[in-house]
Amino acid sequence: MSMPMETITNDETKLTRAGFVWREKDGVRVAVCAPLEHEGFANAFSTRLGGISPMPHAALNLAGFDEDAAENIHENRRRFLRLLDGEWTLAVCWQVHGADVRVVRGVEDALSDEDRCDGLITRAPRVLLSVKSADCVPVILGDMRTGACASVHAGWRGTVAGIVPRALERMRVEFGTDPTDVRTAIGPAALACCYEVGHEVIDAFRERFADADELLTPTREGHARIDLHLANRRQLIEAGVSAERIHVAPLCTMCRTDLFFSYRREKSLYGRTGRLLSVIGRG
Ligand SMILES: [Zn+2]
Repeated sequence: MSMPMETITNDETKLTRAGFVWREKDGVRVAVCAPLEHEGFANAFSTRLGGISPMPHAALNLAGFDEDAAENIHENRRRFLRLLDGEWTLAVCWQVHGADVRVVRGVEDALSDEDRCDGLITRAPRVLLSVKSADCVPVILGDMRTGACASVHAGWRGTVAGIVPRALERMRVEFGTDPTDVRTAIGPAALACCYEVGHEVIDAFRERFADADELLTPTREGHARIDLHLANRRQLIEAGVSAERIHVAPLCTMCRTDLFFSYRREKSLYGRTGRLLSVIGRG
């Protein structure tokens, strides 16, 4: 889809200000959180650019084996991983919009696409934790003191269930993580400009968040647009992460379908959509 030049320029400026840089190799483009990388955490937020999947063409689809050929996904993953220096073992999981967080003990223990959970944590070197998304919020976290890290899938259900604070708590139990040592990046997702929800979601947020009205912009009767970036940012701050260590990529997957996959925009048009991958690890 073509995008007005002004939109593109504004988005680029906002992304740079938020601490992210683009990195590109052989047509594959990712956004990297520079402060996390500076702390020793390899990380990347994928785009749809530079792959081989027919979604609709040359798409870097990185998951969703029921909607794309496995050989396409594996080739796309290989291209994506080339943007990160060194050898990595990719830890993935089958996300179920729940709040379970799993520990990856080492490269021999890396999970597969069959393991069901929505958050991964590790302190093992060369394990690349990942989160799949196409509108939901990907969150990656790095503990600068212990070297532990986490990847979290936070759609509206995960956000209501507090999956990000749960991942932080699990990091505390497993690795002694103190949230004041944590730096985090929140990736591109369906944002408050586009993401309209109905009363089921509105009610769930009113129950969970005392300040729910600040997260909701009423639209038509019984509907509102919701700000999941802000909701996750608030949960991180509440859990003790310093505001200046939370880097939020201000890009909307529903606005920028030239760059990202959007389940909401594309599923109804094509009957399927690709998946982005957001990753973090320590060499
Ligand atoms: Zn939007």
